[in-house]
This record gives sequence, structure tokens and C-alpha cells, in this order.
Amino acid sequence: MIERTTQVQLTCHRCRELLSGYADAELTRHEVQAVSRHLANCTRCATESTHMILLKKLLQHWEGIEGSPEFFEDVLEKVIGESQTMSSSRYPSRSHGH
Ligand SMILES: [Zn+2]
Repeated sequence: MIERTTQVQLTCHRCRELLSGYADAELTRHEVQAVSRHLANCTRCATESTHMILLKKLLQHWEGIEGSPEFFEDVLEKVIGESQTMSSSRYPSRSHGH
């Protein structure tokens, strides 16, 4: 009998664990397929993967630049914060009558 490991559904937790390798293209073909399938069905993890890939790109540009981890996290938080604000609600809740 042949094991059908490719049909295994990823949990969100497992998907998050694989995302770093996914962004780095370090996963096996099966893992990439599993992650891709999960991302197609899970908006949260899909958003997370976008952030992860964005983070990797930032890191590539970061090489050679001196910056503290705190500064980097601050930048990352802004990037993630903005995209979350954009996806959850278009407008900030500041228009509250007069
Ligand atoms: Zn998920």
C-alpha cells in the first residue's frame, strides 16, 4: 500500500511552522503543496504568509544595514498593522457623529 501523505490537511499551527521555510523555498514539494492548499482555504494563514514573504524581502534588503532588532520589529509591526487595518476595515472608526 502507498501512503497518501499528500492528502493530509495542514492545521493552522502546522502551516505557520512551515511558512518560514515556505517563504525561503526550503520546503519539499509535498510540503509546498500542502501549504499552498491550506493557504487557498485559510485567509488568516494566507495573510500570514504574505507577511512572512514580505519579511523575507525586507531581510534581504536589510543585509549590510545596521539596525537593532527592536527597530526592525517596529518596522515590521507597522507593515503588518497597516495591512491588517486595510483588510479588516477600510476606514478607521473616527467618524462618530458630531
Ligand atoms: Zn490556517
